[in-house]
Amino acid sequence: MTYICIDQNIPPVMKLIDGKAVAEEIKSLTKIELYDFTKSNNRTPTLAAILVGDNPASKAYVNNKVRTCKEIGFNSLLVKLPADISEEDLLAEVEKLNNNDDVDGFIVQLPLPKHIDEIKVTLAIDHKKDVDGFHPINFGRMAQGLPCYLPATPYGITMLLERYNIETAGKHVVVVGRSNIVGTPISILLSRKTKLGDATVTLAHSRTKNLSDITLQADILIAAIGIPGFITEDMVKEDAVVIDVGINRVENPDNPETNKLVGDVDFENVKGKCSYITPVPGGVGPMTVMGLIMNTLKAAKKEIYPS
Ligand code: NAD
Repeated sequence: MTYICIDQNIPPVMKLIDGKAVAEEIKSLTKIELYDFTKSNNRTPTLAAILVGDNPASKAYVNNKVRTCKEIGFNSLLVKLPADISEEDLLAEVEKLNNNDDVDGFIVQLPLPKHIDEIKVTLAIDHKKDVDGFHPINFGRMAQGLPCYLPATPYGITMLLERYNIETAGKHVVVVGRSNIVGTPISILLSRKTKLGDATVTLAHSRTKNLSDITLQADILIAAIGIPGFITEDMVKEDAVVIDVGINRVENPDNPETNKLVGDVDFENVKGKCSYITPVPGGVGPMTVMGLIMNTLKAAKKEIYPS
């Protein structure tokens, strides 16, 4: 008689959540939708972006968005403004885009220079063109489950969870980081009574006590902190799903060629412990751009705000 020994201690097989590949799939589908839209409306959707100053990271993000627009076949319009632009002049540029009928949606790349009030600028954007989903009207509608532009990164995360059939209902999701653009909205979305929700969500932040005790309870752990490698192996439950939102540039002044982007999760040590994990780069980042593109197509179709 042969006995088969099943070792209960064999670690789960970790699966990489390939945001780059999923973004490519969505791009292909979007191209088809775009073709239909352009044929029936005799126009191409346009996404505009306002970039203030020379912040290298902001420039890279905006260029990436513009490049992706072009690749899919959208029109894009980049408005570059000097770092010393006055708040009043920036608000005037926002108003121009609000009134430009050729522009379906636009973003103002954050962060803005210190002398400009970001909240004032966000409030000045016509919520019907707010494809970043940062305006309080869109944010409030999201919180109440009404049609809205979802903030691009949380939208991207939900698309990844859906694509990999990762169940959220009844799961304990721990989000670390409470920003208005990632942590807070993803915690709201996943706790709502929807297909991609129904989770029990804990939102942790810089004042949270005994953070590891909480993260160790997470079936799904979402890190949006901005500190390289902050989430270590001892903070992650065996078999958890780990979504790393962080994008941190680690620079080596002695050898700039080794400069690299890393996430908020200590990927190399955590990956063996979890069931799924997003890499950085190539995880959430490409999906954020797709969230923006999907919102722009919705804006062109007037799907959220018909009039
Ligand atoms: P933020 O920088 O506005 O805030 C950071 C959050 O982390 C805060 O809410 C703070 O409470 C929390 N935090 C800080 N120190 C902590 C600690 N010791 N313990 C627990 N919580 C702590 O956040 P953000 O704008 O959401 O950015 C977070 C990271 O995500 C950054 O690396 C950013 O570059 C990246 N990001 C990536 C994408 C993407 O597309 N992948 C999009 C947006 C932001």
